Amino acid sequence: KKKRRLMVAGNWKMNKSPNEARMFAGFLASSIGNENAVDVVVFPTSLSVAGVADILKDTSIKFGVQNIYPADSGAFTGEISASMLSDLAVEYVLVGHSERRHIFGETCELTGEKIKSVLKHGLTPIFCVGETLEEREAGRMKEVLETQIRKGFSGLGKSDLERIIIAYEPVWAIGTGVVASPEQADEAMKFIRDLIASLYGVDLSESVRILYGGSIKPENFESLISMENIDGGLVGGASLQESFVQLVAIAE
Ligand code: PEP
Repeated sequence: KKKRRLMVAGNWKMNKSPNEARMFAGFLASSIGNENAVDVVVFPTSLSVAGVADILKDTSIKFGVQNIYPADSGAFTGEISASMLSDLAVEYVLVGHSERRHIFGETCELTGEKIKSVLKHGLTPIFCVGETLEEREAGRMKEVLETQIRKGFSGLGKSDLERIIIAYEPVWAIGTGVVASPEQADEAMKFIRDLIASLYGVDLSESVRILYGGSIKPENFESLISMENIDGGLVGGASLQESFVQLVAIAE
């Protein structure tokens, strides 16, 4: 029995048109029971979130957006704000996904601003951290994770941390088919949990949920979530199809 409630989160990335997203949300709503023992969350594109919200509103499946800009409104062409999301009953926001960091040059400082904005609007950030293959091979994994966490959480207190979920996503495992071994993932996630203990206390480190992400599939999920420090998964590719329903069933 796990200490913390498991979460299975699906990051759809830049996939599915608004119509496709509504259809898939309908499929999930009819395939996933309403008495979940785990938290199920999907992240459609911002363009599709209103349609998905409409489909999922009376179900136990929650939804979020993949990114926000940390201002409430204004001259930020192409962006959306956390303050706009309350109309749609959005509850979660991904912050610091490796594709945001590496493709769009998002800095640790910007991730910190985003977390603050998400919290200010009463939403839950899922804060993603992870090292590249180069960093891991250079023995810098812990240093990279510590920097991402210290900068991302700078200025936050205990009551803020109580509302945050962390996702450990080694960059070398994202979309590559190379999943971290359960032991590799658990080691990194124990490091993160110990860092949270040193920054915010042991109680918080024991209650904070940390998800693993990177090439999760139905075949490897059970062994990952059986590890002590792994409280569920953030899933990319396998969240776009029926396999997501299987992942939820495995977690339950
Ligand atoms: C992700 O995008 O968060 C992710 C883990 O992707 P994938 O499952 O496709 O590796």
